[in-house]
Amino acid sequence: CGIVGYVGHRQALDVVMGGLRRLEYRGYDSTGVGVVDGERIAWAKKAGKLANLDAELEEHELPASTTGIGHTRWATHGGPTDANAHPHLAPDERVAVVHNGIIENFMELRSELEDEGYEFASETDTEVVVHLVHRELQQQDDLSEAVRAVCRRLEGAFTLVFSDALNPDVVVGARRNSPLVVGRGEGENFLGSDVAAFIDYTAQAIELGQDQVVTITKDAIEVTDFDGNTAPTTEYTVDWDV
Ligand code: GLU
Repeated sequence: CGIVGYVGHRQALDVVMGGLRRLEYRGYDSTGVGVVDGERIAWAKKAGKLANLDAELEEHELPASTTGIGHTRWATHGGPTDANAHPHLAPDERVAVVHNGIIENFMELRSELEDEGYEFASETDTEVVVHLVHRELQQQDDLSEAVRAVCRRLEGAFTLVFSDALNPDVVVGARRNSPLVVGRGEGENFLGSDVAAFIDYTAQAIELGQDQVVTITKDAIEVTDFDGNTAPTTEYTVDWDV
């Protein structure tokens, strides 16, 4: 299971698919990608190997975009089907999330959202997260703020990465009990569940600490705790023989 996020000047789909290929060694049962496309996220997801997603993308091309996210899934809640593959989308497809880990309190969150009329398209624990962020974005439109508010309610283990079509220049990540690494490029930045996700582009990395949220744009990296307090970061150079 693995996660990639990208904002910059390249075709996001190429960067994300390359990253997912690098992360294949970890094992997975499904894959998916999402890119910003006007006021929605255009997406593709498939059970099975990355080759299945390649075939899907050949048949249904995604639009050009410089912001994107990707996922390889190791199913914990809900079988390895197309519908359960990530990304998971808000009802209006404005927001998308990819997730590694387990949201322990998803049952309670799911019934809360269902009571408010949210309909679920999958059996995953993950899908509650995107609906919670979508609901939060009705109050205020800052994606990072919305993600922090939602993270304060989540229990369990998660690496989460979000894309929001109405905040097209940022990708936001969050973590608890599960790893998330930032890759710093020039005029581009990356998120990955490990450095393999972006090692083809940069060796400058920042490891996120426990209970932190990161917001990347093409030129900036901002790390906070779940309450929004700025967190110190340490950058290092990845020692990797490509
Ligand atoms: N628990 C989530 C799911 O089953 C994420 C699994 C993963 O780590 O890939 O969809």
